[in-house]
Amino acid sequence: MLDFDRQHLWHPYASMVDPLRCWPVASAAGCRLRLADGRELVDGMSSWWCAIHGYNHPALNAALEEQIPRMAHVMFGGLTHEPAVALGQRLLDIVPAGLDRVFFADSGSVSVEVAIKMALQYWFAQGRPQKARLLTIRGGYHGDTFGAMAACDPVNGMHERFRPVLAQHLFAPRPRSRFGEPLQPGDLEAFEALIAAHAQELAAVILEPIVQGAGGMWFYSAEYLAGVAALCRQYGVLLIADEIATGFGRSGRLFACEHAGITPDILCLGKALTGGYLTLAATLATERVARGISADGGLLMHGPTFMANPLACAVAARSIELLLESPWQARVAAIEAQLRAGLGPLAAHPAVAEVRVLGAIGVVETREPVPMAALQAHFVAQGAWIRPFGRLVYLMPPYTISPEELGLLIHAVASGLDTLA
Ligand SMILES: *Cc1c(COP(=O)(O)O)cnc(C)c1O
Repeated sequence: MLDFDRQHLWHPYASMVDPLRCWPVASAAGCRLRLADGRELVDGMSSWWCAIHGYNHPALNAALEEQIPRMAHVMFGGLTHEPAVALGQRLLDIVPAGLDRVFFADSGSVSVEVAIKMALQYWFAQGRPQKARLLTIRGGYHGDTFGAMAACDPVNGMHERFRPVLAQHLFAPRPRSRFGEPLQPGDLEAFEALIAAHAQELAAVILEPIVQGAGGMWFYSAEYLAGVAALCRQYGVLLIADEIATGFGRSGRLFACEHAGITPDILCLGKALTGGYLTLAATLATERVARGISADGGLLMHGPTFMANPLACAVAARSIELLLESPWQARVAAIEAQLRAGLGPLAAHPAVAEVRVLGAIGVVETREPVPMAALQAHFVAQGAWIRPFGRLVYLMPPYTISPEELGLLIHAVASGLDTLA
């Protein structure tokens, strides 16, 4: 199996010539992955922010089992169905007030593409087609498709490889003001200078509220986010909040926008939307944006084949119910406290530049890029599934993780740092 995989299957961000080692996983349940050789690993990744309830959850399994005999899929053009409507209602009940229209896409990146199209089409329909650029902040990550990639950090998003075909957007500096701290002088001014100078050509600002994920795991001040939202209104630029990673409680609030009390014009959701079961994302818009797009009789020009897939919608609705019925705030707060207590002292480790914790996210930033293959193997030997990248070793476990399991992950991180001479 491993031979075929190595010879024929691409993995994320991988070389086909010299791929990093992969571990075959046979099954997963609760917060553990069971490898083909019988070893169990405690999951510190939630399969990239998704599996918030852990794996093989009876309620989520049941949602799919109930839906399969009804229909696994039907096209969404000209048809609708109860799973999509029920999920749409659930989402509108919980997202920041003012978002009213839901587009179901099949992955996070596609939901970002749709968000960008919404913003461009909105201004086109207003007779302002020159408003077609985006402004964002450095250190962001919005997905790997071309439209989304153009808004990723230009350095770690590897723009230089794709420059000729990437839209040229504007990048404000990464906010220095940290989460929980007031706005630092200069932070918002740098952003305002750009939005003021370019408002005539800007369709939207796109950013990850509060938590920048794959672009550097950085947590910034709610005052900065509130300031950006106010400047967007002032200068007539739409605000797209990409909550694909932060949505559904990860930062301690159901949505990270709540930290700043803002409602974006357009909101992207994905990842934990289905509790990690199936690929599904959503782009939500305000009534103003939706009506604006159709003001000239225009149609939103997007329609994925698997739009609003009934299985994905059914499991997503159940996952949201499960989350809301659970003591998720207390669970995330307990994870946050244990991460602070366990990872915090590692800030003194000679290999460590900084430790940051917010909600159910714990980040150890190292001074040098980590030897990914060796460190990954060390974690597996410790019974932990943790996938570091660059200078970041981080934990974002399922909310259902036990203190003992989280303790094992924290211990694995600490001992992994000791291997970095
Ligand atoms: C993962 C992620 C995406 C891309 O989602 P995919 O489902 O991988 O296409 C976009 N934005 C953010 C903030 C993400 O974390």
